Amino acid sequence: MLPLYLDYNATAPLDPRVFEAMRPYFLEEVGNAGSRTHVYGQRAKEAVDQARQQVATVFGARSDEILFTSGATESNNLVLLGLVRHGLASDRKHVLATAIEHKSVLEPLDRLREAGFEVELLPVTAGGYVEPSAVQERLRPDTLLVSVMHANNETGVLQPVVEIAELLGDTKTFYHVDAAQTFGKEVETLRQLRCDFLSISAHKIYGPKGMGALYARRMRAQRRPLTPLMYGGGQEMGWRPGTLPVPLVVGLGAAVALADREHLERRRAAAAVKERLLHALAAVEHTINGDPLRTQPHVVNVSFPRVDSEALMMAVREELAISNGAACTSASYSPSHVLKAMGLSDDLISSAVRISWGPGVTDIPTEPLLTAVRSMRG
Ligand code: PMP
Repeated sequence: MLPLYLDYNATAPLDPRVFEAMRPYFLEEVGNAGSRTHVYGQRAKEAVDQARQQVATVFGARSDEILFTSGATESNNLVLLGLVRHGLASDRKHVLATAIEHKSVLEPLDRLREAGFEVELLPVTAGGYVEPSAVQERLRPDTLLVSVMHANNETGVLQPVVEIAELLGDTKTFYHVDAAQTFGKEVETLRQLRCDFLSISAHKIYGPKGMGALYARRMRAQRRPLTPLMYGGGQEMGWRPGTLPVPLVVGLGAAVALADREHLERRRAAAAVKERLLHALAAVEHTINGDPLRTQPHVVNVSFPRVDSEALMMAVREELAISNGAACTSASYSPSHVLKAMGLSDDLISSAVRISWGPGVTDIPTEPLLTAVRSMRG
């Protein structure tokens, strides 16, 4: 028997309904959405148009503001690297982001530094969120971009993205939000949010892996001054050339439509699981990382002082599949930059694990975890 999968923040299982929506586009609907000379192409284009509309609708955007990518990593890269030329040409070379961003933001920011940009990483509170005042204090006339994630992937802590949008107001600064962990989840907040760019991932909302989107707001029908990362056949308004993966596009659209309908119910179910989990954890000494009042209902980041998280995960691995941070870096353990930025002690960082779940999980058996923690403390 495989262990119970509790790593939904790394990736979530595909919803069988999404799979059914995608199936014909793998097997029968073989067209290229860019082919205009036959019915196969037209049908593929109709499916793509519908998916684009589905993504736009949940966010209150227009469909010509959505472009499809391979995931939030690509969307983040496209925004950050794509603005370099404009920043250099307009002599706006100051960029703000938080210290707890995902690596797919932090790594491109290193490239910006190499290109002569001044990148400032904003501190976060002990509760794991950036204060809007931290943005306000550092904002300058030459600030090209502010990039803030909506929810942190390690802690689930929501960032004050709407407040930051308000203080950016009518400045010329671009505003990018990495919504990989919130699109289709924090639906109401995202509908109110005013930003220039928003990164979307399909596989966190039970859609296919390797699929995502970028929202790029149009101002008075004007395109944003983004330089593409790749050149080719002009697809996606030239910003993201390459034949569209129609089955995956359809999958994203279906996942988003389901999320739109079901997010409240999913949230309620996740919160009930969390309540029981927190209650059970009370049996052993632990600390919850991230302000509980600002944390998403389907994730808990918890430290068990004096317990090594690697050993703990090994001890429970027959029963529970949990993690201790970002999937991409967990092959080689390095202390979490997120928990570090929150000011946690080395002990609390090395004893932290993340448990994250979704609609398929109705209860988390905590006995294996509690037994392991007790035995490891001797
Ligand atoms: N940003 C955040 C906050 C994430 O959690 C992730 C996924 N771990 C990404 C970006 C990357 O998304 P994708 O896997 O779609 O490239």
